[in-house]
Amino acid sequence: MTPVPASPLDAFLHAMPKLELHCHLFGTVRHDSFAALNRRAGSPLADEEIEGFYTRGEKPVGVLRVLRALDAQLVRVPDDVHRLTFEYLEDAAAHNVRYAEFFWNPTGTVRDSGIAYPIAQQAILRAIHDAQYEFGITGRLIAAIDREASPEAAVEMVGWVTANRCEEVIGIGIDYREVDRPPELFLQAYRDARRAGLKTTAHAGEFGMPWTNVRTALELLQVDRIDHGYTVVDQPEFARECAERGVLFTVVPTNSYYLRTLPPERWALDHPIRRMPGLGLRIHPNTDDPTLHKVTPTQAWGMMVRDFGFGLDDLRGFMHNGLAGAWIDDTTRRAWRVQWSAEFDALRARLPQDTPPSGM
Ligand SMILES: [Zn+2]
Repeated sequence: MTPVPASPLDAFLHAMPKLELHCHLFGTVRHDSFAALNRRAGSPLADEEIEGFYTRGEKPVGVLRVLRALDAQLVRVPDDVHRLTFEYLEDAAAHNVRYAEFFWNPTGTVRDSGIAYPIAQQAILRAIHDAQYEFGITGRLIAAIDREASPEAAVEMVGWVTANRCEEVIGIGIDYREVDRPPELFLQAYRDARRAGLKTTAHAGEFGMPWTNVRTALELLQVDRIDHGYTVVDQPEFARECAERGVLFTVVPTNSYYLRTLPPERWALDHPIRRMPGLGLRIHPNTDDPTLHKVTPTQAWGMMVRDFGFGLDDLRGFMHNGLAGAWIDDTTRRAWRVQWSAEFDALRARLPQDTPPSGM
């Protein structure tokens, strides 16, 4: 799975210590694993359909239908959940991701795959432990609300998490289609989660949804960080508030919405990611759905340089942002900051003088 680094910059980006804070388990499924699960299920999906899932066109379509297919037709036993988790962590570790907080939507799995929550969670925990042992990567699970399901289903899901508390399940998030499903619908689930001591994040301001969804997530749901959040750039005063509060935005360079809606020659220039740091916002780049977006952690960081024009000092800052916003204890945070900064600087010192080329 590890691509051969193609340039000194790619080798650097591959080697630098990384964490990942925004990645969906079902968006990490390897092509061959997807095909194998499909065959075992009696091939409910045609081969061309699966090829289509893994094709990223000029104007890429979203991946939500793929994620639904996994719950509806392919994931059937706890070992499936273990396999997907273990393979994701193996692939992430191959890119020097040392620590990964990843999303999984229990509602769909329990409802459509018919695997009870405690059993599915147990399978994921087993994979986290196996991957830590095999590859040295630390995995942490974020149970994500399926916002296309009902607010009651979200409350029920948080109830499952709190009834099965363990240190590897550190918080909740919310994802799937934000259109017509604003954050305030899920206030009760977030209240319950915070009361139980869980960390919280939310997808908000994705799909061009208004910046007010970001504000609602922060002020009403009181989330600890924001996933995407791009439309925050539409309201500079609010962006300034977020900057002052030090809110972390986990951004996704490959996010389909802007690739689809902005003209190709303007895409990278007009993308909010390019503007966010200039507004004082803390951002950290992530893969989101790596196999479906055809992106690795190394490439996601590479896009920050090649597409959005950031330099190595910026990348070092993004790495620190990620550590600041990760749900780790402060002793670990301080230790990793010192250690990772030293590694980053040592790798940087070995780069040719003109890396990345100026004027990008
Ligand atoms: Zn996402």
